[in-house]
Amino acid sequence: SQNLNQFDPEIAQSIQAETRRQEFSLELIASENFVSERVLEAQGSVLTNKYAEGYPGKRYYGGCEFVDQAEQLAIDRACALFGAEHANVQAHSGSQANMAVYFEVCQPGDTVLGMNLAHGGHLTHGSPVNFSGKLFNIVPYGVRQDTATIDYDEVASLAREHRPKLIVVGASAYPRIIDFEAFRAIADEVGAMVMVDMAHIAGLVAAGEHPNPVPHAEFVTSTTHKTLRGPRGGMILCREEFAKKLNSNIFPGIQGGPLMHAIAAKAVAFKEAQTDEFKAYAAQVVKNAKALADALSERNFNLVSGGTDNHLMLLDFTGTELTGKVAEATLEQAGITVNKNAVPFDTRSPFVTSGVRIGTPATTTRGFKEAEMVQIADWIRRALDNIDNEQQLKSIRNEVEDLCRQFPLYAHRLD
Ligand code: PLP
Repeated sequence: SQNLNQFDPEIAQSIQAETRRQEFSLELIASENFVSERVLEAQGSVLTNKYAEGYPGKRYYGGCEFVDQAEQLAIDRACALFGAEHANVQAHSGSQANMAVYFEVCQPGDTVLGMNLAHGGHLTHGSPVNFSGKLFNIVPYGVRQDTATIDYDEVASLAREHRPKLIVVGASAYPRIIDFEAFRAIADEVGAMVMVDMAHIAGLVAAGEHPNPVPHAEFVTSTTHKTLRGPRGGMILCREEFAKKLNSNIFPGIQGGPLMHAIAAKAVAFKEAQTDEFKAYAAQVVKNAKALADALSERNFNLVSGGTDNHLMLLDFTGTELTGKVAEATLEQAGITVNKNAVPFDTRSPFVTSGVRIGTPATTTRGFKEAEMVQIADWIRRALDNIDNEQQLKSIRNEVEDLCRQFPLYAHRLD
């Protein structure tokens, strides 16, 4: 029978073009990464064919013997990796992992403290356009204007005033270490539970490059596809006492059949994350972020909070004519992919913004080290000094492609 190329050249072409884009451009989106061939293999396996509603050993379908093995491996490895008592690896996404915890702890209308999206939080931490903001009474907290670091005093006073059921901790655009113990102490004082959404930093946590939230939170949620470098998906960690209800919040609460191919791929990624190679990778992600932040500062860019402790940084264009929107589009022309991002206390609209978010997880997977980070900072400076100069942007793009050629990613897939 015909293969994909022959049967559906349009889709085959879109996959090939995307492979080429990933291979020959600089991926600096902080939430992205490149999975291994092993993860791709598991994700592309026949496990996609299997219905397995329920959990290992307790399914609503026959024929689950082998997918049970895969899911149990994923659960055991997630628990071992993060020191958790229980793991649910069925959440289709980070958003669904968070939804399951909200439904575990709260009734509609209950009060929840969450980090302001405009200060680095995620949509699911209480944005009015998200289920979290629509269903719950969200009290947002943010960062201090002088330091751009989380205002723990504000969190404490808001908690005392509003007595939340749940405090949501974690961020999508926060370049500093988060103090989980401080949140725990505040929650204990007001009788709240804590959910840490470690989506962005999970790989750093697994490798010991960021403090582990598991000992300090009733629930820890994550995506599996960011610094953790697994397939696109979600997971939840918790203590045994919450396990049964939590599982039922995912299925049958908000999902149907689990994606067994994705769960098998998560298991592979968790195994990879236990290796010394991964630990070295995560350490390099942080070193690269520091090197890039330093090199950008030396080239007269302002960074939110002045730098980074983790895998990401935010350029702050406040007070200049440059916007996040223009910077994103200009860098894209130069073969450099970033996303525009609001900076704390941004006066521009979310569609324009005064910043861009830059992360090192994906380029570090390619093998980039500090020297390449300095080169990237040079290109970013040159591109943003030449936003109307197509010739310059094109020449940067050619140089980017040359560097990418020296660090092949999935090149053989283009043959
Ligand atoms: N939580 C955080 C902190 C995130 O940054 C993201 C994704 O960007 C999510 C949750 C949501 O994950 P997903 O896109 O898989 O729903």
